Amino acid sequence: PTSHTAILAREKSIVAIVGAAAAKDLVDGQTVIVDAAKGVVTVDPTEDERAQAQNRADARAAAASAPLTPGALKDGSAVPLLANLGKPGGAAEAVELGAEGVGLFRTEFLFLSATQAPTVDEQTASYTELLKSFPGKKVVVRALDAGADKPLAFLNDAHEDNPALGLRGLRALRASEDILREQLTALANADAATDADLWVMAPMVATVEEADYFVALAKEYGIKTAGVMVEVPSSAIQAKRILQIADFASIGTNDLTQYTLAADRLLGSVASYQDPWHPAVLELIKMTADGGKTNGKPVGICGEAAADPLLAVVLVGLGATTLSMAPTALADVRASLLQYTREDAERIAAAALAADDAASARSAAQAAAENLAG
Ligand code: PEP
Ligand code: MG
Repeated sequence: PTSHTAILAREKSIVAIVGAAAAKDLVDGQTVIVDAAKGVVTVDPTEDERAQAQNRADARAAAASAPLTPGALKDGSAVPLLANLGKPGGAAEAVELGAEGVGLFRTEFLFLSATQAPTVDEQTASYTELLKSFPGKKVVVRALDAGADKPLAFLNDAHEDNPALGLRGLRALRASEDILREQLTALANADAATDADLWVMAPMVATVEEADYFVALAKEYGIKTAGVMVEVPSSAIQAKRILQIADFASIGTNDLTQYTLAADRLLGSVASYQDPWHPAVLELIKMTADGGKTNGKPVGICGEAAADPLLAVVLVGLGATTLSMAPTALADVRASLLQYTREDAERIAAAALAADDAASARSAAQAAAENLAG
């Protein structure tokens, strides 16, 4: 569910479910309900099931046509809602759907189809196009995150038995520092040419020393706001220390879940582990948010978890300061946040945290939310 194929499908609003092996038994003309939010395919649905699905579709349509107010809880406290983008061309649609900025620009999509790194000029042009779409707004760009699920031959072509545990993300960039330096040069150029508020972060930071390395290097290029992604449990555990150094953290729940549950995010056979509702993942998110609070630094969420309307409330209850998601998810999350106060969100988060596993965390949060509504 968090492979890059799935992420691209979500960005294009294509309803998709992965790992549904029985789909091969479907025949042409059979009616199915594909509920991507729940990850369930219902074959030959009953009248009742069809009506329920229709109601949900209607509620979605209503959320999508609600006014594009800035993200906020019921008590008015702001939770900026940002967009995850892979190409500068996606910016216009994100703005139309009410994105208040960009929480994650995945630069690897500029690199993935290339046989060598794009030049500084080519990168400057792409980043400038992106930043121009968000004057005065925050745009968080992630340094190249290649390796494992995003292989890039010119960065690392060594065979690795476990590439997710290999030379990927910041580790690979450090081994080819010229590529990182060129990227920071292009970002600084684009920043100088536009009015957006550019933040730059490093992927797959696992140690305090790596945070220190990246922040110092980014500052060398005049990047004003330099931060880290928290995707490896070690970073969440040391968040208090890391956030003394970094200006901000952004939690990548896709990788954080993969590494916390030791389940390859690309492997259908362990897809059931890839669930950010797991209380162990929620606990690490809370530790990171607490690290932010201690140091007065923002901690956003940019993994797919932020796009789940109820989980979004839990994440805010755990202390996340912003949520970033595929632009098509913004309306549902905006509508969901508006139903709860901060105190409600904290209660719902506490219910999820107290559960034993992902499924019970989800139902405990659901029950707490219904209780509050009722
Ligand atoms: C994540 O890991 O949650 C994340 C946002 O990064 P990516 O999905 O690109 O690995
Ligand atoms: Mg990641």
